[in-house]
Amino acid sequence: MSISVSDLMIRNGNVYSEGQLVEVDLLVSDGKVKQWMAPGAPAPGDAKEIDAAGLWVLPGLIDAHFHCRAPAYSEREDFGTGSQAAAAAGVTTYFEMPISTPGVSNGKVLKDRQELAEKESYVDFGLYAAPGTLDPNDVNSAVEAGAIGFKIFLHAAPPERLDEFTGICITDDGDLFRALKMVAATGRVCSVHAEDETILQEVAAELGDDIRTDPEGHLSHRPPVVENYASARVLALSEHSGVKIHLAHISTGFVAEMVELARANGIDASAETCPHYVEFDNTVMKEFGPFGKVNPPIRGGEDKKALRAAVRRGAVDILVSDHSPFTMEEKEVGMTDIRKAPSGAPGIEMSGRYYLDQALRGEFPLDIILNGLTINPARRFGIDAQKGHLLPGADADFLLFDPDGETTIDINELKTKSRKGAQMWDGRTFKGRLLSTWLRGNLVYDDGEIVGPAGAGRLVRPQ
Ligand SMILES: [Zn+2]
Repeated sequence: MSISVSDLMIRNGNVYSEGQLVEVDLLVSDGKVKQWMAPGAPAPGDAKEIDAAGLWVLPGLIDAHFHCRAPAYSEREDFGTGSQAAAAAGVTTYFEMPISTPGVSNGKVLKDRQELAEKESYVDFGLYAAPGTLDPNDVNSAVEAGAIGFKIFLHAAPPERLDEFTGICITDDGDLFRALKMVAATGRVCSVHAEDETILQEVAAELGDDIRTDPEGHLSHRPPVVENYASARVLALSEHSGVKIHLAHISTGFVAEMVELARANGIDASAETCPHYVEFDNTVMKEFGPFGKVNPPIRGGEDKKALRAAVRRGAVDILVSDHSPFTMEEKEVGMTDIRKAPSGAPGIEMSGRYYLDQALRGEFPLDIILNGLTINPARRFGIDAQKGHLLPGADADFLLFDPDGETTIDINELKTKSRKGAQMWDGRTFKGRLLSTWLRGNLVYDDGEIVGPAGAGRLVRPQ
């Protein structure tokens, strides 16, 4: 759906750009940022004026790791509810992972998903593909269809979810090597879920009949070595292939340091982490049971400390939610046997709010946080001509944010269908308040309500 909007003049706000907040009036025309004007400069013609006095005008957030899985399992989420959750959290572009039925392993499946998302989504989106068929025709067709990047899982598909993971998991080293070379040839980023299948099986064998089924058992099923080893493998293989490698949801200090080592050795590596890894520690399993179950698991306090330091020094350069909705029934089976609960928790409605809270509390520099949520993912995935900042020519995706306000999370009010899945965050109060979300000059979210139309979202392709 395309909507015609009048010009907008955002008055008296502090616009975030290049690491600082600048007092400037922002002129928006035809859904794009047209001009930065001196505060109080006369607005052209019939521009609608919006007073942002005392507010921050931030670029719309980009969430580079998101799952709604549509058209599969709409009882968990669909593009409509997932993107409402995005809009309500200031995310104007999300990158949907390729796990669906069928998995997105070629251009045809990607186009079908685009068609569905463009009917339902309230905000813009990118679509990942997966190279697991190891067929260059599939990989190239996905690129032609506009894939934002590729995703590989290094562990085998969960046995009860085989339908969703077709063409997405690669466990063999030789296959991985070939897949990375195929993706390298496309110039797209390859995101990797780094948990090593062989080591997972070895750990299971080691635990044998003593394997624990209570929630804390999850930590012993997937110890740090599973992720550390897989990350080392894929970084080492990236060196030869020249692929732009991106490590998804890293959870250990060891991996953060390896990413830095890889970069120092000329490997084109980036990394992301999620709020749950930097805020919580492994006591979540005891406290929240299956609702604290994510892969990789939330680690002990030392890793949390190391990850926070890695975010602070820019080693982890992209901040994501890994929003992963499931139904209560699916999660609750994990109460009796944690192995049976799927891994993942809904997070998009907490992610940006949490990180901005942390910046407002002085835990992280504001530019580190905002860049990790906006320009860094835009540059990395090649959409920075259009997204991730508010310089003239960019899409007018922006947020009005009150740094003096606050937000308390009541999970019953979340827009995601999986709201009860977010119980780790229930009752948290964050500094700062998102007042409104604008997509290409259109108001999408206003003070608690979704006001933009379904179907406004468009596929964003790398430039
Ligand atoms: Zn994920």
